[in-house]
Amino acid sequence: MSQDAEKSTAKLSKVEKKLNLLKKRAHLIFRNIDCVKLFNRILKKTPDEILATITESGLRGRGGAGFPTGMKWKAALEAPGAVKYVICNADEGEPGTFKDRVILERQPDKIIVGMATCAYVTKATEGYIYMRGEYNFMSKEIKACCEKWNDLFEKKDFPFRVSLRLGSGAYICGEETALIESMSGNRGEPRLRPPFPVSEGFNDMPTVVNNVETLAYVTMIMDDGLDFFKSVAKDDSMGGKVFSVSGDAAIKGVFELPLGMTVQEFVDIFGDGDTKAVQVGGFSGLCVPRKHFATTIIGYRGVQTGGSMILYNSTRSMYLVLKNYLEFFQEESCGQCAPCRIGCQQLLLGIEAMRQGTRPLSHIDKLRELVNVMGVASKCKLGMSLANPFNSITEHFFEEICSKW
Ligand code: SF4
Repeated sequence: MSQDAEKSTAKLSKVEKKLNLLKKRAHLIFRNIDCVKLFNRILKKTPDEILATITESGLRGRGGAGFPTGMKWKAALEAPGAVKYVICNADEGEPGTFKDRVILERQPDKIIVGMATCAYVTKATEGYIYMRGEYNFMSKEIKACCEKWNDLFEKKDFPFRVSLRLGSGAYICGEETALIESMSGNRGEPRLRPPFPVSEGFNDMPTVVNNVETLAYVTMIMDDGLDFFKSVAKDDSMGGKVFSVSGDAAIKGVFELPLGMTVQEFVDIFGDGDTKAVQVGGFSGLCVPRKHFATTIIGYRGVQTGGSMILYNSTRSMYLVLKNYLEFFQEESCGQCAPCRIGCQQLLLGIEAMRQGTRPLSHIDKLRELVNVMGVASKCKLGMSLANPFNSITEHFFEEICSKW
């Protein structure tokens, strides 16, 4: 073996060792457990005890928003309503995210136990897994899993039933109020909030909407207890996170790792040796440039992510990256509110005009003003979060935005 080949093999095994250690530290979601036994154990606790455990665990929504799960459940419990619902948000539409699909495929029992635990605490009687239309290929298995658990719930006189609903592939239906509208047979358009779904959700009744991964973590907290969950993260974010790694990465796929790593630690494992930027949190997330890798923490104290990590190396034009993002958002904007409907178009036209030289470079100030106005004037997260990619890419890669490269 040549010296170069020896060096690269040694480097690879070092990276693999590091990755394996991290995977071991955060081995919850994909660890197989006996969910039926666990569910029996859960029913031996009181709903108050479980709510206290989930609250104390510090578990926050893993879909990207990071809202404390215990607080959401408590609000739904306290909200008056003849019927209450639990919805599992499996409308994984953020580009670069594919980990919920893998969790659904490999661990559907954990998701249903998480939903049933939520139902036990909040007194919900109906549960729905709202799955994006593109995941239709696994409908049969998910339906069978729902039926298996419904039989068990019936045998135990546990007043909760779960079923599957399919979306039609609109990005915006990942937003919880748009999801509820879609489930109700309406156009998938976000509602004004408040009222929040915990008080007026599906059928205008109290509804908890939790992401797939969040519910799987609920199950694992009930299985492993608080101490293990709290010990996983490298900072005080609490727990692990399932990441979808894509782009110019040496290792791609779905990995469960501790929260609280720096972007540099992440790139040292997954990068191809030439990473110039990492898009943390999908198209609506922040673009972290190389100079900030060492100081940027992935977690609730730093940059939040629903799981998408897209790596870019020096062969990529960040102009084309940003253009691609803006085209996506222009297409997916539901058009309900003017700041987002018009703003998405104008941002795209604006960077194209600067690139072609029909607008001066100072036009960027107007575009930044526009995207910041969208952040406060848009009705939902799509328009609100566009400032994340736009400002971070144009700030750190301005030369690429304007040059012909
Ligand atoms: Fe629709 Fe965009 Fe307004 Fe959200 S921000 S409601 S996606 S137009």
